[in-house]
Amino acid sequence: MNFDNKIAVITGAAAGIGRATADLFAARGARILAIDRDADGLSALADRGMATLCADVTDSDLPEAVAGKIAPMGGPLSILVNNAGIGGGGRMLETSDDDLRRHFEVNVVGLFRLARFAVGEMKAAGGGSIVNVASIYAEVGATGSAGYSASKGAVAALTRQMATDYGHDGIRVNAVAPGLIETPLTAERIRTEAWRHSIFVKQCPLQRVGQPDDVARAIAFLASDEAEFISGETLRVDGGWAMG
Ligand code: NAD
Repeated sequence: MNFDNKIAVITGAAAGIGRATADLFAARGARILAIDRDADGLSALADRGMATLCADVTDSDLPEAVAGKIAPMGGPLSILVNNAGIGGGGRMLETSDDDLRRHFEVNVVGLFRLARFAVGEMKAAGGGSIVNVASIYAEVGATGSAGYSASKGAVAALTRQMATDYGHDGIRVNAVAPGLIETPLTAERIRTEAWRHSIFVKQCPLQRVGQPDDVARAIAFLASDEAEFISGETLRVDGGWAMG
């Protein structure tokens, strides 16, 4: 996979799956615009030569800020990885309207707004590739994640809808659906011995939790020309956990 000189915008790039993706894309030659609300995390990426933008993906003026950052990079936007997201939450009876709105605001509205901007840019440039980060909770039942699961289901549906509407403009849109991945989002839970030996891991055919690089490689494949005839797909990256 070669991303030589391609401009890739990656959200939630300061940690976890986003950071592993930014590092992998950079190693394959991409020029990265890394977006995150965590300024300290971004500074490590800036030290490695990436352009950075400290912003919240829920900012309605984010597309303008991104346009301002990629203009001096001197090329079309080729790849968008919509990775920023928040987890957590409870069952429906423990989920307030505000909790639900927060999951949708970050995981869906922020992603939608940036994708809409990217589609406009990619259309004008004759094509591009978008990868959205969903979750296996988009398709399998999970306890205690009502707002999160609903938001990730929306991400998978939106991925198919965008792929349908903009394929004829040369734009491919895919998603990854990670299983349990060891990142700052999940680290606290995973580090306990109980979790390491939990039913979650036991039910995983590959008998381990995933690592950010596992997901980054799948994102890179879907974003790359190697996947030129794949669009509208949501690829599970879960060690086989959610297999029917
Ligand atoms: P993480 O918390 O380790 O990293 C997420 C990054 O996104 C952080 O740097 C954070 O600052 C940034 N971020 C969060 N909200 C933001 C916002 N509103 N604006 C800008 N930046 C924001 O999370 P992760 O585990 O790497 O998760 C990345 C994506 O993968 C998320 O969409 C998550 O839902 C999804 N996912 C993770 C797992 C898992 O087990 N870790 C499983 C399925 C899906």
